[in-house]
Amino acid sequence: MLDELIALAKRRGFIYPTSSIYGGLANAYDYGPVGVELLRNIRNIWWREFIHKREDMVGIDSQIILHPRTWEASGHVSSFSDPLIEDVKTHKRYRVDHLIEVWIESQVQKGINVSLAKPLEAMSLEEMGAFIIEHRIMSPEGNALSNPKKFNLLFSTHIGAVEEEKSLAYLRGETAQGIFTNFKHVIESTRVKPPFGIGQIGKAFRNEITTGQFIFRTFEFEQAEIEYFFDADETNWETLYGSWKEAMWHFVTQVCGVSSEHLTWYRHSDAERSHYSKETNDLMYAFPFGVKELWGIAYRTTYDLQQHMKYSGVKLDYTDPVTGKTYTPHVIEPAVGLNRLFLMLLSEHYHVTPERTYLSLPQSLAPYRVAVFPLVANKPELVSKARELCNSLRNHFVTYWDDRGNIGKRYKYQDEVGTPSCVTIDFQTLEDQTVTVRDRDTMKQERVAIPQLIEYLNQ
Ligand code: ATP
Repeated sequence: MLDELIALAKRRGFIYPTSSIYGGLANAYDYGPVGVELLRNIRNIWWREFIHKREDMVGIDSQIILHPRTWEASGHVSSFSDPLIEDVKTHKRYRVDHLIEVWIESQVQKGINVSLAKPLEAMSLEEMGAFIIEHRIMSPEGNALSNPKKFNLLFSTHIGAVEEEKSLAYLRGETAQGIFTNFKHVIESTRVKPPFGIGQIGKAFRNEITTGQFIFRTFEFEQAEIEYFFDADETNWETLYGSWKEAMWHFVTQVCGVSSEHLTWYRHSDAERSHYSKETNDLMYAFPFGVKELWGIAYRTTYDLQQHMKYSGVKLDYTDPVTGKTYTPHVIEPAVGLNRLFLMLLSEHYHVTPERTYLSLPQSLAPYRVAVFPLVANKPELVSKARELCNSLRNHFVTYWDDRGNIGKRYKYQDEVGTPSCVTIDFQTLEDQTVTVRDRDTMKQERVAIPQLIEYLNQ
């Protein structure tokens, strides 16, 4: 089914492979005229639900390139990495620990017992490299391997026009750190007080070693993250955490129209969780290629603010103006990738019947709310009436005009891009000011009077 979705996405202008005229770029996709509308709707609806509809939330928009110390403080420079090794011939890259694991398994199958001096997770890069040489382990293609190196997932870049004075910087690996570095500004410049949250939507970059399925895992993606700050003495974290889990669930099931049968929670074990996290859960969606993480939520305690205080020397505590109590707020972080929401929406709402293919996207998310057609394109009176109606609808909805080909072809296109309603202007319209409205999901057609059309579509 993933192949069908990829084909539909390309055919109908949702998603194109990046730089395809140059042979493409691995792990990179562009959003076409239809896809960009869906992406914008996802972004806007997330913002409306989590920022505008709540009095305890504000938003920010920080830079992609932050002060490099930010990433030292957050731990990304030292530990946002995987051990990497390269096939010297094909230059394909692999995780060293994965190759060793596979090799040990193959030996065990041959009846040879290999014992490691210490567990793989505890081995240094040098120790893994020595093991590869000692046992003459080859790449899966049978070629020699390079020396292993630590591969940091942060994309690095350089700032400065003069070559010698260029300084190292990073493209952000997550949007969250820009929230922590602005915490003090937000506290000082607005009327917020804990418990409150700061949300941000923006691009994040990760130099992922393992390639992903379509837009599920890409180098460049868009995150929507929230840091929710609270006083752990006053607010029970478990209750708060539960309410954020409910908000995420509500968004996916009610706003995105996803069946709860396709969703599960996965709780991270003690070994999987980062050392500073007290609780981490992933909301998992049944993607066409398996049940995978859609949205993570972590209770990060005071870790991030403490780290930034340590590295910057700036106090990031909060002093309650009424009680005078000073404390470091604790943080709960719900973080989602908008592109994963996008892929979830395509997967969830994709239907193929013997007659047609259609996307049953919720009205509020569909790229176009309505399409307008003159029944035939060669009758000027029909075309001008239809254009007049189309232009007036444009003041209210994202409206698509189509006078190409026959009605059947126009419906086919709108079904495949998920347009909920198609309005046709015919000869009867000229007589009684009514139009035909065809519903995407039921394919039923109703005659609606033009003065009532906006209200009808708003239902
Ligand atoms: P994964 O385990 O899938 O790599 P993660 O646990 O590293 O994800 P987080 O750091 O928690 O992800 O990021 C929050 C969210 O950002 C994820 O739930 C996911 O929706 C999204 N995300 C993370 N990495 C990518 C990526 N490379 N491409 C697209 N979306 C991503």
